[in-house]
Amino acid sequence: MMNTAEKLNRAGGSHSGFVRVPYSLMGRTVMRNGRERKLCGAALLVCSAIFSFSADGHKSDFTYSELNKRYRISRASVSRAIRVVLDNDLAERGDNVHEYQSKGIKEDEPYLYIEEWLYHAQFEADGVLRYLTKNEVLVLSYLISFSKNKKAWSGSCRGIARRLPFGKDTVIKSIDRLKAMGLVYVEGAARNNYQRAKFHVNGKLLRAKREEIVRRAKGKDERTRNADARAERERFYALRRNAATSRAEEMRARAMEDARFADAEREYRSLDIRIGKAEAFSLPGLQELIRKQKIAAAVKAERLTAMNMTFEDLEPKYICPKCSDTGYLPDGHLCDCYPEKRGRRRT
Ligand SMILES: [Zn+2]
Repeated sequence: MMNTAEKLNRAGGSHSGFVRVPYSLMGRTVMRNGRERKLCGAALLVCSAIFSFSADGHKSDFTYSELNKRYRISRASVSRAIRVVLDNDLAERGDNVHEYQSKGIKEDEPYLYIEEWLYHAQFEADGVLRYLTKNEVLVLSYLISFSKNKKAWSGSCRGIARRLPFGKDTVIKSIDRLKAMGLVYVEGAARNNYQRAKFHVNGKLLRAKREEIVRRAKGKDERTRNADARAERERFYALRRNAATSRAEEMRARAMEDARFADAEREYRSLDIRIGKAEAFSLPGLQELIRKQKIAAAVKAERLTAMNMTFEDLEPKYICPKCSDTGYLPDGHLCDCYPEKRGRRRT
């Protein structure tokens, strides 16, 4: 059972938490009204929250109202989203009410790091204050993930659309809104879907806004402070991990701009699933699937070489080899690589 402080934090009361959105989930399709579609924004977020809080073998536990407050999703949408997530085997119910366990997503998969305060901040555009939409938060977080260590990220709207769960028109629309709010500045032919442009993120505005939101939400008692310390620890590791994964992610995005690599990669992944099935149910044709996968792997290798990249470039390089920058050792204990001072520092 969680203590109240953790519960408070988990409920998102401090707005200083974050959610990990696995890239694989953004590519997932589900059946809705008899048609194959990408997960809707609410389902993606609910599923990612379950994944984020199912870490280290714990089950996540969320009431509808917590999800509603945390991500500003209406209760009706929360309820629909949970239905979609359960029906499509992305999570299963735990023993207790509101308990969910993430399914089929590996702990170390690359993910997009989203700071939760973004769902609670209002920004001004053309004299009107408004919240960011779920899509805008995704696009903005994607750009933020690349702009941690350098000033601008060079890419294309089409490239962004390939990684996020919607088309380039939505990306262009979101970027236009983010530009109007002063959050993003684009250098170069951004409207051209194919051509690369330089995307700058307004870190100053983001930092000021984060502080405002977190300070406003911050409770006055010790429970909240404990929750904050825990959130700060998680944030520390998430940022560390993000630094490692975003470089790998950028390399991957670059590789995916090569159509032949992208085709081979999709083929490889879909074969992964079919091979798994064939193995599990002893279906015929397993050898043929394995042979096809080897060919796809060879094409990937060849394209990477042509682009001056290696498979290692696509993998994250972590600072702490003991915990892979998760903060947790494989046995579930806390890793000792957390800088002590940081734990006492106020955020
Ligand atoms: Zn460590």
